[in-house]
Amino acid sequence: MRSTVVGSYPVELKEASGFKDKLLKSVGAYDPFKDSIKQAVFSQLDAGVDIISDGQVRGDMVSSFSKFIPGFKIEDGNTFIVSKIRNPTGEISVKDLLYAKNLIKEYYNGNIPEGKGIKGIVTGPSTIIHSSRITSFYKEKDDAIIDLAHSLKKEVDAIENKVKPVYIQVDEPFLSTGMVNMKVAREAIEILHENLSIPLAMHVCGTLQDAYKDLSKFNVEILDFEFAGNNVNLDILEKNISLFKGKKIGFGCIDSSKNEVDSEQETEELILKGIDIVGEDNILLDPDCGLRRAPMDVAFKKLKLMNDIKNHYM
Ligand SMILES: [Zn+2]
Repeated sequence: MRSTVVGSYPVELKEASGFKDKLLKSVGAYDPFKDSIKQAVFSQLDAGVDIISDGQVRGDMVSSFSKFIPGFKIEDGNTFIVSKIRNPTGEISVKDLLYAKNLIKEYYNGNIPEGKGIKGIVTGPSTIIHSSRITSFYKEKDDAIIDLAHSLKKEVDAIENKVKPVYIQVDEPFLSTGMVNMKVAREAIEILHENLSIPLAMHVCGTLQDAYKDLSKFNVEILDFEFAGNNVNLDILEKNISLFKGKKIGFGCIDSSKNEVDSEQETEELILKGIDIVGEDNILLDPDCGLRRAPMDVAFKKLKLMNDIKNHYM
């Protein structure tokens, strides 16, 4: 049984302080987010998380991808589709992931222990398109989704080849909303999955009531859902576990909508219930969703609680 995170971590931006940082700032080369990545990586490792993220500290899940992809325009924080979606202008998250992976090495004095590592995270094509407004070129969102899947595939491949993560996760929160054409969403994930030699995970938060049957058919090795801040998903999983045979379940067991540390007893009961339904070998523990909105110390304590319980049962 291993633990992971969904992605984003709280950010406290630091001003350039030392001589080197000030010098970099004076030539416009200071990156204030480097410290945030370091903080996110070390906090996750200190809390005992096995498969960490780079903290996704640079911004919201849509624009951090769409700003590197021709066809999109971002204005006042909104994303518009203005022309045909093409391949990214460069690698999007590879540099941060490599930096984060090196920090894991540093944390463990040179060798990343077995079972620990980093995952790459890409916002899913359906979620990006449904968060954007089409102003020209496309008549149907579905066509834009498929073009974007081909574009994001370049990033997925770059992450696989250069970062060599434990796995890659696609975030598709929109798939539980009923707004998305599930057939097209599935085809898009199929494009991302092609020729991948590491597992692909898909995170979908929200209530699964109307989506679980479709989601169980997606070609991914891991499906990640929320079970802490949600009172129907556990029941759905239990009654339909046979649908998810052959897949691992990312088991959200920490309520990311609450900015306070979860109850130890309730979390432990939930985890035990999860193990009971899914089986110890097929469960990955993580928070329901990203912890971006929680205060730094609360985010840390939430992750630590989850890992302390995990270690107690291993
Ligand atoms: Zn989520």
